[in-house]
Amino acid sequence: MFVSRLFWNRHYTQKLLDWPGWLDEAVNPVYRGFNRDRHDPDLVAAWKRGETGFPMVDASMRCLRETGWLNFRMRALCASVYFHVLQQPWRIGADHFYRHLIDGDAAINYTQWQSQCGLVGRPGLRLYDPRKQVRDQDPDGEFVTRWVPELDPLPATYLDAPEKTPLSVQREAGVEIGETYPYPVVDYEAARSEFRDRYGAVHGAAAARLADEAIARRASLSGGLGAARSIAADHGDDGEMDGDDRLTQTGLGDFG
Ligand SMILES: Cc1cc2nc3c(=O)[nH]c(=O)nc-3n(C[C@H](O)[C@H](O)[C@H](O)COP(=O)(O)OP(=O)(O)OC[C@H]3O[C@@H](n4cnc5c(N)ncnc54)[C@H](O)[C@@H]3O)c2cc1C
Repeated sequence: MFVSRLFWNRHYTQKLLDWPGWLDEAVNPVYRGFNRDRHDPDLVAAWKRGETGFPMVDASMRCLRETGWLNFRMRALCASVYFHVLQQPWRIGADHFYRHLIDGDAAINYTQWQSQCGLVGRPGLRLYDPRKQVRDQDPDGEFVTRWVPELDPLPATYLDAPEKTPLSVQREAGVEIGETYPYPVVDYEAARSEFRDRYGAVHGAAAARLADEAIARRASLSGGLGAARSIAADHGDDGEMDGDDRLTQTGLGDFG
């Protein structure tokens, strides 16, 4: 497994040598500037500080700031919530990671950000559900309460969505959502569906753009140019799936 990951390391290094634009602009021109018109410095600051109201994201962003390290899944989660839910410009998020990651590698970080955000144009948008991540990955709240200690008094059952904690439980625990810990900075369901609509509206054009050999080569899809052509051919299908579902269905779980 370790060796397979070293291949990924070399793969991304070669991609950057092949096209340095990975550091600056979306590899698929259709997605250039996506979310730029929605730039909200307050939302970006809340994400950087770990104060979005989504505990798994907040714990991860505070852990990143304190330790300089996160595992692959939490890196993917924070990138996904930043781009798909807060709908902020990808480069700012990628720069923040690069600045804080102890293993910050320009070739891997910026290409991974583009891949996680869905800026390539291939099927399968990796949308992570931050609440499901708490239930699946941290059911006892060990990670969340380590990095978000203000939530420690709350029973673990409420850590996936603290804002839904009954007032009586909040009072008993001495935690006041909105004071001790923020409400979610955006309405999760509404933001997610709004993003799907916006992304879906241009996905056909983005998939079709992969017929361009130069872009397909840059995107270096597994399966090479053949894969690019078939995606371009059937770009009718938006091929959208949830990040969690994607991992199970396409066996990508073995490296994430
Ligand atoms: C948004 C995002 C940003 C990332 N930024 C970076 C970064 O700046 N630097 C970085 O090294 N990795 C980055 N990764 C990839 C991956 O998360 C880390 O390499 C891995 O988690 C580091 O932990 P490890 O050293 O214990 O890895 P192991 O799992 O022990 O892997 C060993 C080595 O293989 C390489 N490797 C592992 N996974 C990947 C991968 N998916 N892609 C490319 N190489 C990989 C790394 O060099 C790693 O040190 C990023 C992933 C995401 C989703």
